[in-house]
Amino acid sequence: MTDDIEKKVYRGRIKVPYKHTGGAYVERFITEIGKSNKILGVKCPKCNKVHVPPKMICHECFEKMDEWVEVQNQGIVKGFTVVTHSTPIMPLEPPFAYGIIKLDGADTDFVHIIKESAPEKLRIGMKVKAVFKENPRKRILDIEYFEAI
Ligand SMILES: [Zn+2]
Repeated sequence: MTDDIEKKVYRGRIKVPYKHTGGAYVERFITEIGKSNKILGVKCPKCNKVHVPPKMICHECFEKMDEWVEVQNQGIVKGFTVVTHSTPIMPLEPPFAYGIIKLDGADTDFVHIIKESAPEKLRIGMKVKAVFKENPRKRILDIEYFEAI
């Protein structure tokens, strides 16, 4: 074989339609947000940490968690990144931020949108509260965004 053989390249696209479920815990979490504007977590029976969003197994002690607890609709910003470029899939018109938020009553962090038209006002440690969608669609965006309080 020689290396001077012309190689043919064929380009194409493979469409892979799929569906997936978030599982029973995410289902309950999302349903409760839309139904009653309540944010739920689950509490580990061993380390007592409250996980939001809820997970079946504690990632620290590997215990099964099934004690559901309500956490507050507000919390502290632990980190954020500002979005300035628009794409068709954006949930809000930029600028806005994606924030890491520790809700009051939770021990884990929750990532969601922070709406702030003046991103220079965003600070780590600032308090934010959830703004719920008026017409929930059983999606995580039933918490439309968080905003400063
Ligand atoms: Zn634990």
